[in-house]
Amino acid sequence: MKYNDLNQERAQKYLQSDGMTVLLPTGAIEVHGNHLPLDTDCCLADALAAKVEEKLGVDRCAVLPCVPYGQVWSLGDVPGSIHVDGQVLAEYLYEIAKSLDRSGVSRLAVINTHVGNSAAAKTMMRKAAGVLGMKIYQFTYPGANEMIEKVCTSERPHNVYFHADEIETSYMLYLCPDRVDMQKAVSRKVTFPKDYEYSAVRWSEFMDTAVLGDATAATAEKGRRIIDAVVETIVSILKDGD
Ligand SMILES: [Zn+2]
Repeated sequence: MKYNDLNQERAQKYLQSDGMTVLLPTGAIEVHGNHLPLDTDCCLADALAAKVEEKLGVDRCAVLPCVPYGQVWSLGDVPGSIHVDGQVLAEYLYEIAKSLDRSGVSRLAVINTHVGNSAAAKTMMRKAAGVLGMKIYQFTYPGANEMIEKVCTSERPHNVYFHADEIETSYMLYLCPDRVDMQKAVSRKVTFPKDYEYSAVRWSEFMDTAVLGDATAATAEKGRRIIDAVVETIVSILKDGD
């Protein structure tokens, strides 16, 4: 159920009940070319959290509203993007976790769809470990890579990053089809500079539009296969921890 739908009396009982998991979607406001909206990662985080909730059981979950702002340094200088420093984000997430811990929640799962937020989520978890009583997880599309290799056909400019490309556009076509304009989807050949991994280089320095590959190859079916694998992975990890 939606966390915000609880009333005061219900919140106290429900949040402290056995096997309760609070899901916190985290996304970003960031340019995604012209075929996807700025809040793509937020749409995906909300939809992914809903799928996890469905599998875990709606009476065992409370789904928080999405944290919309993320660490988007790489495209943060492009008009439309809103960047929050990673340390600020880690502190912000920690404050949320602290309040949930105080409410008696035993388990928090961050459902993150923006790779740039992962480090902040990890910093938050490390700060909370041994301090807060709550068990915390962070999931950034776990289990996606194996399925991506099976179902995606276009060349990936980078083996870790994906952005407004075949992969992310397929996620959107499956989870939030009304927000996609495939007529504006493009294919971009992107080459990362040789020193990319060893220095601070913004994506905007070597990309003319924020599409990291071929968005035209995206389909809802590809998105379904990858996202279903991700949901299965998240649920199996959470069930193992029961
Ligand atoms: Zn995105």
